[in-house]
Amino acid sequence: MIRVSNLSKAFGAKTVLRDVSFECLAGTVTCLLGPSGSGKSTVLRCINGLERMDGGDIHVGEIRVAPESLPSVRRRVAMVFQRFNLFPHRSVLENVLEGPVQVLERPEQDAREEAMAILERVGMADFAHMRPTRLSGGQQQRVGIARALAMRPEAILFDEPTSALDPERVGEVLAVMRELAEEGMSMVVVTHEIDFAREVGDQVIFMDEGVVVEQGPAQAVLTDPQAPRTRLFLDRVL
Ligand code: ATP
Ligand code: MG
Repeated sequence: MIRVSNLSKAFGAKTVLRDVSFECLAGTVTCLLGPSGSGKSTVLRCINGLERMDGGDIHVGEIRVAPESLPSVRRRVAMVFQRFNLFPHRSVLENVLEGPVQVLERPEQDAREEAMAILERVGMADFAHMRPTRLSGGQQQRVGIARALAMRPEAILFDEPTSALDPERVGEVLAVMRELAEEGMSMVVVTHEIDFAREVGDQVIFMDEGVVVEQGPAQAVLTDPQAPRTRLFLDRVL
């Protein structure tokens, strides 16, 4: 589904990704772990073209990520951010409708029905007519996920979707993500939630200083890491 091959990226003189390669198969969950500054967000941003790669290749299905293919890439791959990125002056429903109506040019009435069904799915239908600013962080993030789903993506990239939340709100967002995974959504998830990665992740990629230090089945990497660097990181966060 998403194939990253020898991805390299520098900002000025600073190399932040070096030969990063991994594949997220259709219907699977890949969790990206690693310390701050290791390049996790940059990997996600290269996948959906928010950053231009300097070397290597990224494929989304058959499509090679390149400036000219960005519209079709972004139609297939949605992104959920740490800070929700909702429009504060529009209702929850309007936030969810924006993509399907403006980008996909779907008829308003169809899009509206589907948006309500999606809000139902993430437990936010009762809040459809409220402004996001009146919601808790966990509720806002569930709207963020609804916004992504409304684009009918083939895959969703999550960049630390629970890091900005109060601890008691983390669970409700992870529960929605877990359901999506069970329904077969392809997901690449940057997270520090090790339990989530172990239970929901199919594959774990551990990065440090712009390189993939270790990758493998989630259970194996998280219960018996091979690289000393991974072990040290897990000892610290667990
Ligand atoms: P965190 O866990 O803190 O979110 P991360 O693993 O997501 O970290 P990135 O945000 O991908 O790390 O950053 C990787 C490196 O690239 C860091 O050294 C960061 O300072 C640098 N970097 C990221 N974006 C830019 C930019 N637009 N300009 C210059 N340097 C950048
Ligand atoms: Mg980041």
